[in-house]
Amino acid sequence: MKAGSFYFVIPCYNEEAVLPETSARLKVKLRQLIDEGLIKEESRIVFVDDGSKDATWDMITKLHDEDSVFSGVRLSHNRGHQNALLAGLTAVVKYADIMVTMDADLQDDIEAVDEMLKKYYEGCDIVYGVRNDRSTDTAFKRGTARGYYGMMKMMGADIVPDHADFRLMSRRSVRALLNYSEVNLFLRGIVPALGFRTDVVYYERGERFAGESKYPLRKMIAFALQGITSMSTTPIQCITFLGIFIFVISIIMLIYSFIRHMIGATIVGWTTLMISVWAIGGLILLSLGVIGEYIGKIYMETKHRPRFIIEEFLDREHGYVFGDDDNDEADR
Ligand code: UDP
Ligand code: MG
Repeated sequence: MKAGSFYFVIPCYNEEAVLPETSARLKVKLRQLIDEGLIKEESRIVFVDDGSKDATWDMITKLHDEDSVFSGVRLSHNRGHQNALLAGLTAVVKYADIMVTMDADLQDDIEAVDEMLKKYYEGCDIVYGVRNDRSTDTAFKRGTARGYYGMMKMMGADIVPDHADFRLMSRRSVRALLNYSEVNLFLRGIVPALGFRTDVVYYERGERFAGESKYPLRKMIAFALQGITSMSTTPIQCITFLGIFIFVISIIMLIYSFIRHMIGATIVGWTTLMISVWAIGGLILLSLGVIGEYIGKIYMETKHRPRFIIEEFLDREHGYVFGDDDNDEADR
């Protein structure tokens, strides 16, 4: 086993409350792994500032000044957790053999990294951190999560249940991931689609120790919908089936009312009429909504916008400022 260079990639959005503690604990962990000869001396902890509005970037700068083990990537604008992760991976993939992504609040157990590394050296390219219980979640989050995983599976998207973005990836698997140029990227769906040898490590997920969740219900719903619409076209197929179903019913109704007419029992019901007008109207709107969602995605994809722009990559050896030299490829 030849020890590889190891990078923690930590997305941070308004995380000033947790950064001091997180950085201290990650540093201890990294030191331990280096001392055990599991990873190279030039391993790093990279914080990706996802356009924070608080002192997050100042803290990252300070950490970097004090100790070169800390690197920082600053996004020019808040682009969301998934894009922040991707930006961090893009920035370090040239130098890192092994990358572990995890949240800044250390809800994921850093001790699980040892086992992840073990699996990496056994030949795995991707190791998923999977939580072994969801007791720290509210009943609501637990229930919705379970329903969501079930639904994704039914729609043909291959995702690992109870896995958030706590994951070890080898350089080549990250390179493969970066080949996906779609704007609406759902990492939890794309990573399993990459293939490679993968394994799972179980861990207990803790509570956020400071600050508050950056995922309010609104963002959670948006994220869930994003997952479905970026991974699956089953909703469109559902509309097709619904259309066929309603068409069949309308034929049955037609025959039925024709027979009633022949018998002479034609009582034209105003209520029935109104109900059908509303029902059909609702269905049409619903269908248009779902179709519109996909058209919106096509629209976004055709723009080929960069998913993020790294304004600055703070690192003593490899750092750069956007547009400075030939690092353009790394910015897309
Ligand atoms: N995060 C981010 N950009 C955002 C929202 C969140 O980079 O727009 C980061 C955040 O700093 C944290 C991680 O994503 O490191 C997970 O967020 P959080 O812990 O708030 O989510 P939860 O654990 O409550 O689902
Ligand atoms: Mg969290």
